[in-house]
Amino acid sequence: MKKISIIVPCYNEHETIEIFYNEVIKYLNDDNQYRIIFVNDGSKDNSLDIMKDLASKDERVLYVSFSRNFGKEAALYAGLETAYMIDSDCVIQMDVDLQDPPRLIPELIKEHDEGYNLIITRQKNRKGQSILGKIFSLGFYKVFAFVTKDKQMASGSRDYCLMDRKVLEAFLKIRDYERFTKGIYNYVGFKTKFLEFEYIDRVAGTTKWSFKKLFRYACVGLREFSRIYEYIPKIIAWLFTFLLCFDTGYGIYHAVHYDHNFFDYDMNYWSHIRFDLGMIMIFIVLFYIFRLLYEIRHQVRNRPIYICEDTNREKDINKKK
Ligand code: UDP
Ligand code: MG
Repeated sequence: MKKISIIVPCYNEHETIEIFYNEVIKYLNDDNQYRIIFVNDGSKDNSLDIMKDLASKDERVLYVSFSRNFGKEAALYAGLETAYMIDSDCVIQMDVDLQDPPRLIPELIKEHDEGYNLIITRQKNRKGQSILGKIFSLGFYKVFAFVTKDKQMASGSRDYCLMDRKVLEAFLKIRDYERFTKGIYNYVGFKTKFLEFEYIDRVAGTTKWSFKKLFRYACVGLREFSRIYEYIPKIIAWLFTFLLCFDTGYGIYHAVHYDHNFFDYDMNYWSHIRFDLGMIMIFIVLFYIFRLLYEIRHQVRNRPIYICEDTNREKDINKKK
């Protein structure tokens, strides 16, 4: 019998939590010991009350409630930490809106029985997405796979996955302040398998990700798992150095060849263009340097990834002792 924890991040999900619960428990058989860990990511609606109500009726339900909204990645981290504390053998991460179909749970567990440490689900198509969303996510996955050389990272990977205790421990060791699960998959390694499924619409409620939020999240992925933030300023610096060398050579040649006074070399409009280009390049490089300094400052301060305000996880931690 395995101890399996299902981690469910929730942000303003009062419409979906109960539907999710009623659906997911259909797939929890008696062969294993299950826990459903709801993480309330600072919801402003009554999501927490619904979680508490479910916990009072079903002892398999745990909840961890944040003091404010810390984001989905922080909610997943809190779920993983809780699963670790209560001694789970495996964890399954899934969204509460039923876009991650619970019917795959037995299949995920079967693959784990066959010896895979990490089983990641992947969406086959993007039927329900807007055109802008489709272009953006397809483009992002292609760029991400190219710059990170991440062979696994094919289009459509989800945070919906099963990980065993070893992978769970590795995930917890990565204490990135800005987290990106899809990059951590490849980083931690282990024996991995992909499971595919068709796109499903949200069962109720609306998406919690605006385009701006998604774009920033994509930048986190690129920053954390590729060297693109190092290479862009490097390429610009090389280009600028090359242009400067060319410019200097040309200036010397001009002065000597036309027998002009070296220091009298006229600033014509080409020189202005070259000067402006140089300044633009310097500003771009400075942007990347400041961005990296900001990241380092964030990480060095070592602030907590989340702050828990209310939870019933202690009951299972104490049981373990
Ligand atoms: N979520 C969260 N914190 C946030 C945003 C989202 O915990 O700040 C949860 C949300 O409740 C859901 C999951 O993350 O369970 C995925 O969010 P959503 O369905 O809105 O994203 P989408 O499927 O549209 O990408
Ligand atoms: Mg969703």
